[in-house]
Amino acid sequence: MLSIALSKGRILEETLPLLKAAGIVAAEDPETSRKLIIPTSRADVRLIIVRATDVPTYVQYGAADLGIAGGDILTEHGGNGLYQPLDLKIARCRLMVAVRKDFAYEQAVQSGARLRVATKYLQTAREHFAAKGVHVDLIKLYGSMELAPLTGLADAIVDLVSTGNTLKANNLVAVEEIAEISARLIVNQAAFKLKRDVIPPLLDDLRRAVK
Ligand code: AMP
Repeated sequence: MLSIALSKGRILEETLPLLKAAGIVAAEDPETSRKLIIPTSRADVRLIIVRATDVPTYVQYGAADLGIAGGDILTEHGGNGLYQPLDLKIARCRLMVAVRKDFAYEQAVQSGARLRVATKYLQTAREHFAAKGVHVDLIKLYGSMELAPLTGLADAIVDLVSTGNTLKANNLVAVEEIAEISARLIVNQAAFKLKRDVIPPLLDDLRRAVK
């Protein structure tokens, strides 16, 4: 049995067509089903529905053989125990620094000001600002980062930007790109070695589907 860990939302929406092209169709719509383990058209493959940030953890410990996770989440996780053999080129977006329209970010950086930055991505943000030599106090948030500069919680945020509509609707502007992000297929290292008969062919099918 092969278990594939997936999260609901953008990744699921864009992954289902790829899985279908690889011959794997969910028996129920994972978006609306309350089931957390969903069988597929292949008797030896099941989907495990977890929170996006938990996907690498399930795969790392082998509770799932494979998973699909955003590059943002993989960088935060650190990638221990995982292979990342395939960029699926889905759920594409950019990890950006954003501030209120009226906040002079460049000026603050150049004057050596200490910035308060709110983000879900502590590790990535810490590395980014350290590399730039900018002093920051990082504030961990779990969602709605856009609210932080509007309420005075932070000067800046580090968040994912896709269309830019959310920033715009909240009078924020992106001032710096940290990374381009897309979702990747991850594989448990032990499973990759033990399940040689099933994982590499599935990888080939998915690679073709991505193309
Ligand atoms: P947008 O308004 O299209 O720029 O989308 C921004 C909002 O969607 C922010 O709250 C982001 O955290 C979230 N977001 C954008 N792209 C992604 C993605 N690929 N995966 C998860 N969340 C995303």
